[in-house]
Amino acid sequence: ILETQQLTKSFGNNQILKGIDSKIEKGEVIVVIGPSGSGKSTYLRCLNSLETSTSGTVSFEGQVVNQLSEEQLDKIREKMGMVFQSFNLFANYSVLQNLNLAPMYVQGISETEATQKSRALLAQVGLADKADAQPTSLSGGQQQRVAIARALAMNPDVMLFDEPTSALDPEMVGEVLNVIKDLAQTGMTMVIVTHEMGFAKNVADQVWFMDQGQLIEKGTPEQVFDHPQEARTKDFLSKIL
Ligand code: ATP
Ligand code: MG
Repeated sequence: ILETQQLTKSFGNNQILKGIDSKIEKGEVIVVIGPSGSGKSTYLRCLNSLETSTSGTVSFEGQVVNQLSEEQLDKIREKMGMVFQSFNLFANYSVLQNLNLAPMYVQGISETEATQKSRALLAQVGLADKADAQPTSLSGGQQQRVAIARALAMNPDVMLFDEPTSALDPEMVGEVLNVIKDLAQTGMTMVIVTHEMGFAKNVADQVWFMDQGQLIEKGTPEQVFDHPQEARTKDFLSKIL
């Protein structure tokens, strides 16, 4: 569903991604791990065309996205939900309005229909009673669950998560990971950058280890965590586990 071939990305003379070959199949849950600065966020941002690649290709649902116009790219971005470390909710709108906005103004869905869908999504993330709350009145964990529901409101084919729990107080990490785990069980295709190794073991179909702009090792959680092959993977895991 999503594939890169020899993807590179440079900022000035600084090559951040150094030829990434990767393939994400429909329904797969990929967890990307790796040290700070290794290029994980840049990789995600190239996947959904928030960054344009320097060379190589990104394909989504059989279409090479590098060559598309901005208008076509907007269509593609609608199919990829993205959740960041910071929740980026619209503070001046209620929770329900946050969910309704894109379906109504981007997809042209009626308010009644959008609201119905939004309420179902809020129930799915355990926040049915918060529809009329202002985002700022919610805890970090609740805000992040709203952000996930908001991304889902566009009916994405893929969800990309960039360290969704890194900004949260420890007691709120679990509730957000549980929502993502439930989503995995619905068959959603997901790429998740996280430092939560326990979660990765439980939920990932594949774990990818990135270091210095390269995908060093890919495998099942058992392969990568319990039997890493590459020295750099072993070194990284020994520091964090
Ligand atoms: P972290 O775990 O800290 O989030 P990361 O693996 O997500 O790290 P990236 O955010 O992808 O790493 O950054 C990789 C490198 O690219 C860093 O050295 C960063 O300074 C550089 N970089 C990222 N975005 C830009 C940009 N817009 N302009 C210049 N350099 C950038
Ligand atoms: Mg990052």
